Amino acid sequence: MYDVVIIGSGPGGYVGAIRGAQLGMKIAIIEKYKTLGGTCLNVGCIPSKALLDSSEHYHNATERFAEHGIETSTVKINMAQMIKRKNEVVSQTSGGVEFLMKKNKIDVYTGVASFVTKNVIAIESPEGRKEIEGAKVIIATGSKPITPEVFNYDKNRVITSTEALNIDKVPGKMVIIGGGVIGLELGSVFARLGTSVDVVEYMDRILPTMDGDCGKELMRSLKKLGINFYLGHGVTGVKATKTSCTVTVKKKDSEESFDIKADYCLVAIGRRPYTDGLNLSAIGIQTDEKGRIIVDEHLETVVPGVFAIGDVIRGAMLAHKAEEEGILVAEYIAGGKPHIDYNLIPGVVYTWPEVAAVGKTEEELKASGIPYKTGKFPFKALGRARASMDTDGMVKVLAHNDTDEILGVHMVGPRVADVIMEAVALMEFRASAEDMSRISHPHPTYTEAVKEAALAATGNRPLHI
Ligand code: FAD
Ligand code: NAD
Repeated sequence: MYDVVIIGSGPGGYVGAIRGAQLGMKIAIIEKYKTLGGTCLNVGCIPSKALLDSSEHYHNATERFAEHGIETSTVKINMAQMIKRKNEVVSQTSGGVEFLMKKNKIDVYTGVASFVTKNVIAIESPEGRKEIEGAKVIIATGSKPITPEVFNYDKNRVITSTEALNIDKVPGKMVIIGGGVIGLELGSVFARLGTSVDVVEYMDRILPTMDGDCGKELMRSLKKLGINFYLGHGVTGVKATKTSCTVTVKKKDSEESFDIKADYCLVAIGRRPYTDGLNLSAIGIQTDEKGRIIVDEHLETVVPGVFAIGDVIRGAMLAHKAEEEGILVAEYIAGGKPHIDYNLIPGVVYTWPEVAAVGKTEEELKASGIPYKTGKFPFKALGRARASMDTDGMVKVLAHNDTDEILGVHMVGPRVADVIMEAVALMEFRASAEDMSRISHPHPTYTEAVKEAALAATGNRPLHI
């Protein structure tokens, strides 16, 4: 009998397993695929960032080196090598998780897990069926892409991110359905490599769940990269042959529709919690209208001793959110009183410029009637950004009008994926915009834009604009 059986080895499951083992518990983890690490390591965060980096190098070599005074002879793409390097990064990272499981004496089972009772889990694999028992069980089965039938997802020409990460020849044309995180990150990869990319987004702006200014700023940069946007448009159907596809696009609130012919149609309209085959009904666990497992504040389901974490429950579908939840459940099972402040889980989009945010958006503050003040600073006014020719974007600090407490920070710009951590740390300690503005920031760095935006929020006194 294990202390804890964890189903799924993504960032939620494997991090929860390590924390449980550190706390002295005997842990088993079950993963249906041969490689560990889940969506994030195998077909998500890590491979997409590997291709984003490779495509950025190519783009810089072809579009930006000359201005820096670097002359190149013909720069060519070797897509097979790009994918091979990506695969190596993935297998090194997944191998790292395997090592960590061994190091922490966590038993790894390969096969599809399903509930027999709330404590007994069956594992089916080509080698046969076995059962293991756990005093507690954590469901960390993640999510899968949403692929409506009318899009005729065929994994060949109509694809999701999973297949897009393995395209081995630069496509001539790609239509992306969805102007969210996946659409814009992978859209950037292919646009940088020379693909003509159209993004069809149902809402009137890209990144609709983020602060409005972020979407606006990013769209300007992505248009310069050559991405074409159809905002306020939906896709009514996709038809594919072996070698191409035709996407029918319709303007919202209109009968007007038109076809776009492309090599690929990438469906990136969100992901759904993945509970297929778990046999949840056998133990009385229900899911909500979006298919998410319902949990309480300790991430425990309606069945005592059975927990759920990560993409399979409510909240942002982010690797670091899943990790924090894995840690929370392990510590709670061990008798601790852990806590997560969901408001302070940062979000990042790894386009160029990058987008990063934490806390409340301006739209949320407006809607909740909280009095706030805004400070903004554009990267074009920053020496560091001019030195690297990365002048697109801005930092926006939102602070409470009366108390000056920082309520939200939103950024579009160079390396803001890393810069955002200053805001997260300060908000964790409930700092004011004045605190942020009085901290010494090294010069020249991109972080100076944060200080300047905080100065702008505290009485409109930025120094360099
Ligand atoms: P997953 O990582 O989905 O892991 C679940 C695991 O459970 C899988 O390995 C699955 O095979 C296994 N499983 C499912 N059912 C069973 C079963 N019955 N038996 C055994 N095993 C089972 N997030 C970020 O924070 N940053 C990023 O940069 C980022 N980039 C992304 C890029 C892409 C293209 C995608 C698709 C996602 C990205 N994400 C990113 C989101 C991130 O991958 C997820 O939020 C994260 O992986 C969720 O972790 P999880 O542990 O909940 O589930
Ligand atoms: P998303 O929710 O970020 O974006 C989906 C977009 O598709 C939205 O803008 C939505 O308005 C639009 N949309 C929905 N239905 C549509 C339709 N029929 N026609 C046109 N547009 C439509 O989802 P995603 O980009 O698929 O990503 C899935 C999840 O993966 C996200 O929740 C995200 O958190 C996670 N992810 C994170 C990162 C990161 O952290 N950098 C990267 C990739 C993915």
